[in-house]
Amino acid sequence: MKIVTIAAPGEPAGPCRGSCGHPACLSLRQLALARCPHCRMLLGFGAKVTGWPPMHLRCARSSDSMQADGQRTIARPNRPI
Ligand SMILES: [Zn+2]
Ligand SMILES: [Zn+2]
Repeated sequence: MKIVTIAAPGEPAGPCRGSCGHPACLSLRQLALARCPHCRMLLGFGAKVTGWPPMHLRCARSSDSMQADGQRTIARPNRPI
């Protein structure tokens, strides 16, 4: 799983401060302003994101464990006594 840190403006790998026309800066700003499909919050500068659509690393991990829980529930359904 590829992990990307969204560099903040002013950081060496980050976009220019303010607005500019650089495609790399534009895509970084768009990524920071995108919403995480898991928690619906902005991804934000400085956040570690992964996957596609990109989501917070912590959200990707918690959704992985949720899927594992779901699989366990399907494999062992509750039987009424
Ligand atoms: Zn720029
Ligand atoms: Zn999230």
